[in-house]
Amino acid sequence: MTQLEVKDNQKLIEQDNNHLWHAMSRHVEGGKPMIAESGEGAWFTDLEGKRYLDGVSGLWCLNLGHGREEIVEAAAEQMRRLSYFPLTLSHQPAIELSAKISELLGDSYKTFFSNSGSEANETAFKIARQYHQQNGNPGKYKFISRYRAYHGSTLGAMSATAQANRRVKYDPGAPGFLHVPPPYSYRCPFGEEVTNCDKVAADQIDQMITWEGAETVAAVIMEPFISGGGVIVPSGEYMQRVAEICKKHDVLLIVDEVVSGFGRTGKMFGFMHSEGVQPDIVTMAKGLTSGYLPLGATAVHSRIYEKFKATGADNHFRHVSTYGGHPASCAVALKNIEIIERENIVERVARLGETILGKLNQLADHPFVGEVRSKGFLYGVELVKDKSTKEPIADDVIGGIVAKCKEKGLIIGRNGDTVPGFNNVLIVAPPLSSTEEDLHFVVNTIFEVFNETK
Ligand code: PLP
Repeated sequence: MTQLEVKDNQKLIEQDNNHLWHAMSRHVEGGKPMIAESGEGAWFTDLEGKRYLDGVSGLWCLNLGHGREEIVEAAAEQMRRLSYFPLTLSHQPAIELSAKISELLGDSYKTFFSNSGSEANETAFKIARQYHQQNGNPGKYKFISRYRAYHGSTLGAMSATAQANRRVKYDPGAPGFLHVPPPYSYRCPFGEEVTNCDKVAADQIDQMITWEGAETVAAVIMEPFISGGGVIVPSGEYMQRVAEICKKHDVLLIVDEVVSGFGRTGKMFGFMHSEGVQPDIVTMAKGLTSGYLPLGATAVHSRIYEKFKATGADNHFRHVSTYGGHPASCAVALKNIEIIERENIVERVARLGETILGKLNQLADHPFVGEVRSKGFLYGVELVKDKSTKEPIADDVIGGIVAKCKEKGLIIGRNGDTVPGFNNVLIVAPPLSSTEEDLHFVVNTIFEVFNETK
């Protein structure tokens, strides 16, 4: 009998109420937390034995689902062999994983490991600033990101995050972070009449770099598809145009693949939807280990790494992470990638995202659906009171839909706090290895709930 089985459920709830501080949750006095007890594939079971399909893959990370014995074994085997070793020195799983990441990115990259997506982005910011210093441009220190973007919770990553509600009690953020409007065609920030919103949005970055002074701008950071900020899906040309602008101004392009990496959008990396784009820096976490263990990675193009290389010079990267690139996490990541390749997960996501989950596109006909946006296994359904005015739907209606899905055994999400009233996008992002039956359950449950919602 495991330790958990002898626990008294009521005691667990009390201890949770008294001692466990939940992420992103309002305090509910005497609340009944959702306590998971076990998981299998895309499903988990709570303390009372009720099963749920996790339609958001935990926090968009449980890409291969629960219970992959091979991954568990890879971690255990690595811990037995070498339980810990720092990356001030080296070990085999990190070496092999860095080489694999370079291969998957399709060019020569050097990877720095950390523990999370936030840290991967912090690492990218420091590398970008130091690169410019060592490349003869010490004044290039600013970062540009887009409104609605989320890049993490630590100070620099929060400063790149441009959602008012995530910053309101923590500002001021770190200096040097600037924001431009996103390529959000449904509510084009440049006016309803604008028909080429993606292009105008990309050109805003050009304008900002010009007016700030290119000699002061270090990098642009962007997700291929803004995920937590409401699933914003521009055309592939948007990133192509941003990459050209960055190149023109000697500004680095940091692509945040924390959510989109490792197959979520139907390509191994989201930037691969934009032909010809080869980012200077790619950050990743979540799907890198499918959430089995924590790991973040900052892959830096060898062209950038060149500037950290002069022998004997004091130009090394002065940054360390005790647990970053833990041997067990790297072994898990290697096994995770092996499974993704062996099971053709990326191709499967592209196909089933179009066919089974693609049925969600029919929700667009529903009276309070403004727009359905998707890429692979990443779906956003924007809800409005009125299709013509696009006024966001009332908070309790969207909350009710999420709650009804939960009653029926399906967990779906909504976009994080952006600005008041605008967390009106339902998010569906099931594990990439969900069975076809699981995906039908997701779609059917959502249709049922929509039909019941007035
Ligand atoms: N970047 C993006 C796009 C994310 O969605 C997240 C987390 O949701 C992060 C970075 C931060 O990752 P972590 O929570 O592992 O620090």
